[in-house]
Amino acid sequence: MKCAESGCSEPATVRLHVPWDENRIVCAGHARALAQQDGVVADPLEEADEWS
Ligand SMILES: [Zn+2]
Repeated sequence: MKCAESGCSEPATVRLHVPWDENRIVCAGHARALAQQDGVVADPLEEADEWS
């Protein structure tokens, strides 16, 4: 799973809940930047949380 931000190929480790847009899965760096915005909630993905 790669970061959802365009041009970023970091592994995605955080789910962002964005009130005005679709939720997205991003890397730690983008999560930090985007979570500064009002209403955005960063939800770390659990390693043990299986996607399959
Ligand atoms: Zn990223």
